[in-house]
Amino acid sequence: MGNSFRSKAEVLIVGGGVAGVSVAYHLAKLGITDVLLCERKQLTCGTTWHAAGLVTQLRATRNMTELAKYTGELFKSLEAETGQATGFRQNGSLRLARTVERFLELKRGASMARNFGLPVEVIGPEEIKDRYPPINTDGIVGGLWMERDGQVNPVDVTMAMAKGARNAGVTATALAQGILYTPTPEPPFWNTFLTPYSAVLTPDVLGVMGLGGCTCGATTRGAVGGLAGAGVDS
Ligand SMILES: Cc1cc2nc3c(=O)[nH]c(=O)nc-3n(C[C@H](O)[C@H](O)[C@H](O)COP(=O)(O)OP(=O)(O)OC[C@H]3O[C@@H](n4cnc5c(N)ncnc54)[C@H](O)[C@@H]3O)c2cc1C
Repeated sequence: MGNSFRSKAEVLIVGGGVAGVSVAYHLAKLGITDVLLCERKQLTCGTTWHAAGLVTQLRATRNMTELAKYTGELFKSLEAETGQATGFRQNGSLRLARTVERFLELKRGASMARNFGLPVEVIGPEEIKDRYPPINTDGIVGGLWMERDGQVNPVDVTMAMAKGARNAGVTATALAQGILYTPTPEPPFWNTFLTPYSAVLTPDVLGVMGLGGCTCGATTRGAVGGLAGAGVDS
């Protein structure tokens, strides 16, 4: 990444964590490559850097579960597609219960997983030990085995998506901090984003700044923070 800026882009993405880079990657897949991604420091330096990298598939709703299933599929093929290692391993996961009540809750989750089309097994302490021999099963009532869960290196997977996006023509630029938001009052309603380096004109802006959305929102009267869902008072 460098500090050279374009002055126009069809889409401007603010934030180079896994969310922003994923948006860039998927826009490129849709053929939208006139995309500029601005990151204030370096890609993955935010929450993404801290993530443990667990890739679990059972979520609270069908749509979120479908999205998580897609993510698992994407992580399987991303390394072959981009040449960038992701550290993805689909080694399954265990969810453990130490009380009967918690086991009941897990079993309810298993019903939901089956309903969402996810393979899941309700297992007892002995099978838990079979799946993961180092574990001490004293006090464990039972658990769930989700064979499609796995793990990834969050930094590497972000870099792989960044490479895929760059290969398709997306520009990623570092050190774009202190952005100001000025929508034009008349059609075509392009927005001007001022960075320390130049102004960027764009019709579409995506704020994926993680916790930085609060700061950015505060300096921009809530406009960008609102886009990021930060809900910052102006
Ligand atoms: C300890 C921990 C463990 C976790 N474990 C897991 C896990 O196992 N599995 C899982 O799925 N999730 C996990 N998560 C959650 C996961 O890390 C986050 O959901 C994810 O990283 C959020 O990504 P993001 O792109 O939204 O935000 P971020 O990674 O924070 O990216 C935001 C980016 O925006 C940039 N930015 C901010 N303001 C500006 C600005 N004004 N201009 C330009 N750029 C700006 C920042 O520098 C940053 O790079 C974990 C989180 C933590 C803290």
